[in-house]
Amino acid sequence: MLLSDDEVARYARQLLVPGMGVVTQEFLRAARIQVVGGGPVAGPAMLYLAQAGVGILLLDDAAEVAPEDAAGWVYPPDRAGEPRVTAAIESLKAATRWVRPRIHATGAEPTAALICGGGALAREGAERARRAGIPHVVADADGEGGAVISIPPGAPCYTCAFRIGTGVPAPAPVAAAVGALAAGEILLLAGGVLQPPQGRRIDLVRGHPRTSPTVRQPGCACATRA
Ligand SMILES: [Zn+2]
Repeated sequence: MLLSDDEVARYARQLLVPGMGVVTQEFLRAARIQVVGGGPVAGPAMLYLAQAGVGILLLDDAAEVAPEDAAGWVYPPDRAGEPRVTAAIESLKAATRWVRPRIHATGAEPTAALICGGGALAREGAERARRAGIPHVVADADGEGGAVISIPPGAPCYTCAFRIGTGVPAPAPVAAAVGALAAGEILLLAGGVLQPPQGRRIDLVRGHPRTSPTVRQPGCACATRA
């Protein structure tokens, strides 16, 4: 379906960005992006995706809003103790009428996944997305920076691209910067701008992003398409 006049007016500036355009915007509107994790990287990322015109956001997080989540952009302080997903859905709907945020449920069939966090959440989320054959991005803040790993179908997997971080918790503004970078990457993938089989990681080091192609580790199971 073509963009309406309202949508063209809403996304007018974005449509002028090199690599964007009406077709990409229509891809984004048709996208169903699963957001795994709901922490300080995910909150800003969700808001960026909603404002960029992603049609459906599938929120996948089991935690409740904690007092420290107030820095997460989508959790008002008075929602402490409620499920993060319901608080985030309200905030996203209030931010823009174009997005349809939902709680992720079995059978939702996302077209792309953004995984915000590290450890088992990242490994398992990335493997599910790889097996589903959908583009995915894994983002984790770490100390004074973080890493954003973009994995189109067929690209080297998260395990191939993983590097051990410092384990130092990132301040909220650093996490938000990583979330913004990650949102940009999943938008490129979901909008069809970044084409398979390119995969890359962006290391944010004290505000400076460094981009490098990902490389498949010898013998990794991802050499065979899931
Ligand atoms: Zn691999």
